[in-house]
Amino acid sequence: MIRRHSRPSIRSRSVAEELLAASARRLLLETGMFTPPYDPWKVAEYLRIPIREVAMSASGVDGYVDYVDDWPAIVLNSDAPWMRRRFTLGHELAHALLMLRMKRDDGIKLGLKRYAHGTTPAVGSRSDPEEERLCDGFAAALLMPEGDVREYWRRRAITAQAIFECATFFEVSLFTACARSVKILPYSNASYWQRRPWPMTEWERGLSISRTVWDSLGEFVESVFAAYPQHSVTKSFDEFHLHADASVRGRDCLLLVVSRGTCESSQAVRPALSQKLTQEHLPGF
Ligand SMILES: [Zn+2]
Repeated sequence: MIRRHSRPSIRSRSVAEELLAASARRLLLETGMFTPPYDPWKVAEYLRIPIREVAMSASGVDGYVDYVDDWPAIVLNSDAPWMRRRFTLGHELAHALLMLRMKRDDGIKLGLKRYAHGTTPAVGSRSDPEEERLCDGFAAALLMPEGDVREYWRRRAITAQAIFECATFFEVSLFTACARSVKILPYSNASYWQRRPWPMTEWERGLSISRTVWDSLGEFVESVFAAYPQHSVTKSFDEFHLHADASVRGRDCLLLVVSRGTCESSQAVRPALSQKLTQEHLPGF
């Protein structure tokens, strides 16, 4: 039998990812920032990348980076909330770093579409989803370095309230806190639910959850809303631990955190299960 060996493919995507993650770590060290919250403005200053803040709400744009005198310059939407501006700046800094790297043309081709035909993006070239993903990854690594996130969760149970506090601690949005935490902590999932229209998940990040479990999550969330004013509820379902907290963002939204039994942090949730959830608050559980 003849076996065909395909040539091992070198995924330039992962090279770009590595380069940006290493840059984020290096930049925090070089700017003397060792504890959260990290300041992306300080990084921009260090890189000598100018920032202009302009009201751009009408255009729906959070920020962009352009060349001014052959050097990247960032424009940020001054109307955007603080946490969002911080993340957007991190994201645009990654674009700027890629631009500078391509400008140097040091031979490392990162396989990004916008640079496919030269060292600067073609005028009017559309954004590349892969490049956008990389830039989001850089912003997350800059604002929530992996070591800090691990340290944060080392002694905490993954609950909705703890994720909310995590967002405050790192000065990031609830979405960023969830997305980054569940990426770093295996066996966890976070979803954000709206009460109306019902049932509706705004977003979900983490474990891929089976349809059966997902249906049960819906029922669970519905029960939590029905059980006002008892906002915060924890429940065990098969090997999953569920924790929902409607108080995280007002009465009509709810953050649900799911962790699997094997997750270290979920161990701490267990003792709370029997105490928190009572038949009188949530009949049927
Ligand atoms: Zn972008």
